[in-house]
Amino acid sequence: MSLTEKDSQYLWHPYTQHKTSQTPIAITRAEGALLWDENNKQYIDAIASWWVNPFGHSNKFIADAIYKQLTTLEHVLFGGFTHEPAVKIAERLMEILPKNQQKIFFSDNGSTAVEVAIKAALQYFFNKNKKRTTIIAFENAFHGDTFAAMAASGISFYTQAFQGMFIDVVRIPVPVKGQEQTSFDALENAIKNNNCAGFIFEPLVQGAAGMVMYEPEALSKLIGICKENKVLTIADEVMTGFGKTGKTFAMDYVSEEPDMICLSKALTGGTIPMAITTFTQDIFDAFYDDDINKALFHGHTFTANPTGCAAALASIDLLQTKEMQQNIERINASHLNFQKKIEKHPKVITARTLGVIFAVEIKSDSEESYYGSMRNKLYNFFIEKGVVLRPVGNIVYILPPYIMTDEQLQKVYTTIEEAIEMV
Ligand SMILES: *Cc1c(COP(=O)(O)O)cnc(C)c1O
Repeated sequence: MSLTEKDSQYLWHPYTQHKTSQTPIAITRAEGALLWDENNKQYIDAIASWWVNPFGHSNKFIADAIYKQLTTLEHVLFGGFTHEPAVKIAERLMEILPKNQQKIFFSDNGSTAVEVAIKAALQYFFNKNKKRTTIIAFENAFHGDTFAAMAASGISFYTQAFQGMFIDVVRIPVPVKGQEQTSFDALENAIKNNNCAGFIFEPLVQGAAGMVMYEPEALSKLIGICKENKVLTIADEVMTGFGKTGKTFAMDYVSEEPDMICLSKALTGGTIPMAITTFTQDIFDAFYDDDINKALFHGHTFTANPTGCAAALASIDLLQTKEMQQNIERINASHLNFQKKIEKHPKVITARTLGVIFAVEIKSDSEESYYGSMRNKLYNFFIEKGVVLRPVGNIVYILPPYIMTDEQLQKVYTTIEEAIEMV
């Protein structure tokens, strides 16, 4: 039996309708921006395996750091214990995070990072005997698949079976060009008419919505409105963090600082599942008390796993090299060139770029749903051509590992151009 046959016997894949989906591709090895399947077919990983892998697959530098940590201290519980990799990653993050961030809390993935932030926002007011129960979030947001994260997410595909079972969320429009004032007004109204604890947002780029982009000034204004009303702000940088937008964090473009930041995905360079939620001193202080009930009663078994911390430290080392910063600039310049070329194409509605993120919207006769027929046609075409891209409806985006070569990048562009002709 082949690997894929054995797979279909036992395995249940994410976001997959097994009755209608094709068999998955069995990948046997990977290096840099390339993947190889069991038949030795080569693929360019143009989405960094769901946005986690900026420095390339099977990276030796991170692997060595992991091995060293595994053979020194692979894991120890974080309740009542601490260790050097956790302290070091905290110190490193303090150097690069917005200055008001003072405390870091570990968990395992993007959804749990969000879960922790939302729970902290709600309990912050509970601890102050001023209970607030509503969270504000953007339309078409994506914050993960656990319950509070799902509640904050606005893409109905992921959440429709659970409607009516969520914490209270009010949704406001994203301040894309021309819609800024509508968004500001909606936020003011949401705060006036509800008992709002926090506002969660994907800063500057909404990943799962199809790389929807908006300006830093608009986000700054929204955060300012929250500050005036003492509503806590949560920047979900799970996708945008660690260089994707051209700066270390998307929030580096924004003049107002958030109260909390969620990190995961590229945190460990795509090696070990790990996430971090960061907080201001003010939030930490609302939990600091003689009363044990005011503590943040949240934790995961693998909290602050030393091996994950070692991978994260090695990843930040790589991110900060001159070479990697130049790679980010090189890819950005290349995307901007491609954007200029492609946006004039009669079948293209619009194209956009921020940092290493590029997206193009393709014209379509009918309303394209998230996993609709155009999407499937495009996806299959890309796979056949040996390029891993996962379109969202009629939107094709690229989010390459920073080490992707110019030649590989050109092949991705050409394949997208061919796909636009094909549909
Ligand atoms: C992917 C993502 C999440 C969820 O992360 P998981 O690790 O998949 O749970 C949350 N927020 C944003 C912005 C994401 O892109």
